[in-house]
Amino acid sequence: MDEKDLNKERLELALEAAGLDLWENNLLTGDVTRKALKTFRELGYSDEEIPALVANTLQLVHPGDVDATKAALADVFSGKTQQYRCEFRLRTKSGGWLWFANYGRIMDARAEVPGQRFIGVTFNIDDRKRKEDEIAEINHKLAEQNSLLQGLNTALELLASTDALTGLANRRTLMEVGAKECKRTARFEHPLSVLMVDIDSFKSVNDNWGHLVGDRVICAVADTCRLRVRQGVDTVARLGGEEFVIILPETSGANAEVLAESLRKEAQHLRVDDDAGTPVPFTVSIGVASLARGQSFEQLLNSADKALYKAKQKGRNLVQRFEAIAG
Ligand code: GH3
Ligand code: MG
Ligand code: MG
Repeated sequence: MDEKDLNKERLELALEAAGLDLWENNLLTGDVTRKALKTFRELGYSDEEIPALVANTLQLVHPGDVDATKAALADVFSGKTQQYRCEFRLRTKSGGWLWFANYGRIMDARAEVPGQRFIGVTFNIDDRKRKEDEIAEINHKLAEQNSLLQGLNTALELLASTDALTGLANRRTLMEVGAKECKRTARFEHPLSVLMVDIDSFKSVNDNWGHLVGDRVICAVADTCRLRVRQGVDTVARLGGEEFVIILPETSGANAEVLAESLRKEAQHLRVDDDAGTPVPFTVSIGVASLARGQSFEQLLNSADKALYKAKQKGRNLVQRFEAIAG
């Protein structure tokens, strides 16, 4: 065996071990000087069928991959690229599709008659492609589930921070916002006031008109408070039952009292009907307090509660400032 035969044997072994199928075309004559037999056999075609297929291999390429394949070939033939690289699906005998890759070069570009030998290898990349598809599918599902979870988280956060009946901030949020506002107020020495709004004799509203009508009254007062405050500045919360707290940053006690008085009057004229369309009368009392130096939010609430208690003592449907009864 001479060196040439030995080299041929070595090449065949290397091709086989690497799963590569060598092909070679004479671009000048259009002859296929070495056919990618292994590839056609892998696709399920018999050796008798192969010559007709080799004559026009593009007929086997998936319609979705034809343009990219043609473009890759055009680039190498025009000299735009040195290497021809392409991935495409080929039709199997049974009508399915398998992914293959092609890698080739014009080997004698500098020869006297350049562009004659176009040589390359084809290899099966179906496993890899299917795994890539699976991973893409998994990633897609993960992204979907992530956005679902994000939506659920947002909904949960909202549920945890708001009151179910009125949609107002709940007690937890109130205490968080209150503590923050107290800190800010202390730092800048700005005023901060709170209103504690309580529906008068609400037990009798429930007793006379029923719990559901009672709920309607609670919602009507909640809506009034919400609509009367500065959006994005003030915080309205349901402290519990028929009690609400409004945090008013940058607001003096005198201004808070003006707002409280106007709220009290508005509540008096709110119309809530029972199921028969009969108006349900109700009023609110409001305690007003302003943050004193060094006070915590709990202490501020306590002051507002004391003022509210005084308003109730004085006969209800009243606004009472804590500063007017303190000390
Ligand atoms: P006051 O004028 O002194 O505030 O008297 P009141 O009857 O309003 O006060 P009290 O605190 O004694 O009663 C509050 C009532 O509110 C008792 C409770 O059954 C009722 N209540 C608490 N939460 C709800 C609710 O979500 N819906 C309804 N309809 N009633 C509630
Ligand atoms: Mg009450
Ligand atoms: Mg109460």
